[in-house]
Amino acid sequence: MSQKTTNLIHSVPVDELTGSISVPIYQTATYVQEAPGVNKGFDYGRSNNPTRLALENIVAKLEDGYAAYAFATGLAAIDAVLKTLKTGDEIVAVDDIYGGAYRLFTHIYEKFGITIHYVDTTDAENIKRYINEKTKLVWLETPTNPTLKISDIKAIAKTAHAANALVVVDNTFASPVAQQPLKLGADIVIHSGTKYLGGHSDLVAGLVVVSTPELAEQIKFIQNASGGILGPQDCWLTIRGIETVTLRVERQCKTALRVAEFLQACDEVGQVYYPGLASHKNHELAQQQQNGLFGGVVSFTLKDDTEEAANAFVTSTQYFKLAESLGGVKSLVCHPAQMTHKSIPHEKRLRSGIADSLIRLSCGIEEAEDLIADIKQAFEKIKKLEPVEVFN
Ligand SMILES: *Cc1c(COP(=O)(O)O)cnc(C)c1O
Repeated sequence: MSQKTTNLIHSVPVDELTGSISVPIYQTATYVQEAPGVNKGFDYGRSNNPTRLALENIVAKLEDGYAAYAFATGLAAIDAVLKTLKTGDEIVAVDDIYGGAYRLFTHIYEKFGITIHYVDTTDAENIKRYINEKTKLVWLETPTNPTLKISDIKAIAKTAHAANALVVVDNTFASPVAQQPLKLGADIVIHSGTKYLGGHSDLVAGLVVVSTPELAEQIKFIQNASGGILGPQDCWLTIRGIETVTLRVERQCKTALRVAEFLQACDEVGQVYYPGLASHKNHELAQQQQNGLFGGVVSFTLKDDTEEAANAFVTSTQYFKLAESLGGVKSLVCHPAQMTHKSIPHEKRLRSGIADSLIRLSCGIEEAEDLIADIKQAFEKIKKLEPVEVFN
């Protein structure tokens, strides 16, 4: 683990011109040329920027990829990958995909004649039923949001490659500290840099990491042609965040496991979703696939499975701030049914395990005991406010 952090820190380059130990922010739109077409490798701010290049090289190393490209947001990164497709192509995607990706797929790309099949990818066999000669991408998230389902990247990559489809893994929830999908056979990795990579809830960013020169050429072309790049200030801020990603994520994962174990023993709690618990359906797979790190997000339902009870809880915590997003140093709490997953119809939500009372916690870097104490006091407060009768 320490070797990894050493490599990571030293993949952040020292500036050759001045010795600046921090990557300079090149806040420029254009670059002066010696003669038409004769330049120092940079010609226009959309096409290339040294601060962005530094970030892209760091992320490529972090994911053990061939190259990486930085975009304005995670969704802009997803959009760039979708633009490699053409009318008639098909995608097989994880059924409880990130809501923003679902919206982009169905409300924008289906319009252009791209078909998306949503499948329960926790069983790799399910994919075989939907894969055909038109399938270009198999789209995974593992763990998923918010019920933290795990899919077998290695097994799915075998199936996809046999059908000449590429495997895309949105690795936002695991982070490269816990999981490196390209090593498991995936072809493209996506990050919302807004979450663990940035790590401080102070920026939005997206990254695409690719495994081959051919894919690099395609994504680089799309990045320049469509222009959804990350600006130099935010590239710098993302680099600054990445320097501590291993420290933060290791701690967040440890804390999340303790929080999950605590929740499991609480009378107020219905079901706890966390891949680090032995009770999780794919615990063994998560153990192998995620270097024994199960992520900083824990979800749970209340025995009083109502929106009101969830509301009372999420407005009673003090360290866990009520907000969308995850992965930052400050802990966050969210009620998916009313926030991140509000646009999904109630029935469909329930079917994918998003109960009315489901609560999602993103553990930050506070002391685990303090976070547990916060949860305890929130349960106490709810009890005092409105005693609920629990029927089993
Ligand atoms: C947040 C998130 C995204 C979208 O990223 P933005 O930076 O908000 O555009 C994509 N995938 C997952 C899994 C996410 O959590």
